[in-house]
Amino acid sequence: MQLAHWRAARLVATRDLTHDIRLFEIAPAGDEAGAATSGFVAPSPGSHILIEVLIGDRVETRSYSTVGPCGDGLYRIAVKRLKASRGGSAYMWRLSPGARLKIAAPRNQFDLAWHKPGYLLLAGGIGITPIYSMALALAAANAPVRLLYAVRSKADLAFGDELGAVLGDRLALFVDADGNRLDLEPEISALAPGGEFYVCGPLGLMEMARQAWAGSGRPATLMRFETFGNGGRLATVPFHVAIPRLGLDFDVGADETLLDALEKAGVAMISDCRKGECGLCTLPVLAADGPLDHRDVFFSGEEKAKNSKLCTCVSRLGGGILTLDTCDRKA
Ligand SMILES: Cc1cc2nc3c(=O)[nH]c(=O)nc-3n(C[C@H](O)[C@H](O)[C@H](O)COP(=O)(O)OP(=O)(O)OC[C@H]3O[C@@H](n4cnc5c(N)ncnc54)[C@H](O)[C@@H]3O)c2cc1C
Repeated sequence: MQLAHWRAARLVATRDLTHDIRLFEIAPAGDEAGAATSGFVAPSPGSHILIEVLIGDRVETRSYSTVGPCGDGLYRIAVKRLKASRGGSAYMWRLSPGARLKIAAPRNQFDLAWHKPGYLLLAGGIGITPIYSMALALAAANAPVRLLYAVRSKADLAFGDELGAVLGDRLALFVDADGNRLDLEPEISALAPGGEFYVCGPLGLMEMARQAWAGSGRPATLMRFETFGNGGRLATVPFHVAIPRLGLDFDVGADETLLDALEKAGVAMISDCRKGECGLCTLPVLAADGPLDHRDVFFSGEEKAKNSKLCTCVSRLGGGILTLDTCDRKA
């Protein structure tokens, strides 16, 4: 995993885009030692910055995709205030202009590949943030792009006017509350051969997109996606873990991930993305006396249905006891 180079920064301004999505404009203020240079690194479409957030008295890190080209030396991010939250988004929403921040320069794990014969972009809810930057960049380059943007209700639409102005009829909106149904098959069929598909949104949308793309027979390598690593089908509740092989028994709190709890218990885990994409932290499930909530995009639907393995960084049990094996891992 890439090490973060932390810099001081200042919140310049905020603006509400919807009732629960707020835009933040952030100016870097040199490196931690107070270097005179601003330290601004222009983000490429799909990039995100890291921000230190304070949760209680704990310093934690949250990632936020940069929105738009940020050509004026300010990082722009849009943060959704989450109800079921450990506190990162709530912390961001408590900030006022002038607040001092610590950020790490943009990194990109959701790169836009240029010069493709076509681009189909799909965003759900707050997943619009990286997709918005991609849509603007592609439209500016006159690339053949179509954006499908799904939201629960019109009130949840962020960047709708900006996108409409730039994309015109290349933007298709799907508003759940109005009964608009997203049908991916014809959209994928209309994409030029060799075209790429970029997706960011909630787990359900992501799974639907993966299934439709696989069904189209197009190469998996031409579909790229990013997850924000949160949310599942079930509420986030505490549960108990038993690992007979290591003689371990411990609780996983509602405010920690299974991976965090395994590491705290001394299990030698391997992990990388920590958002259910890479599959490095998966462990075999021996038994579960509660419902498993697979929150990853690493396993296929069939693999998840077997419930024989889970991604410990995001997936969890909806209460009860989860018995795991650790095979080659040691306490
Ligand atoms: C690359 C990247 C880019 C991102 N870009 C954006 C962005 O542009 N805008 C934006 O708003 N967010 C973005 N995020 C998400 C953001 O980093 C935070 O996760 C988000 O703000 C929620 O943080 P939180 O502390 O409020 O809630 P968290 O507690 O971190 O997460 C809230 C969600 O996770 C679930 N959850 C809570 N506790 C646990 C647990 N112990 N185990 C598993 N799940 C749990 C909750 O049910 C809830 O749905 C991005 C994330 C990544 C990785």
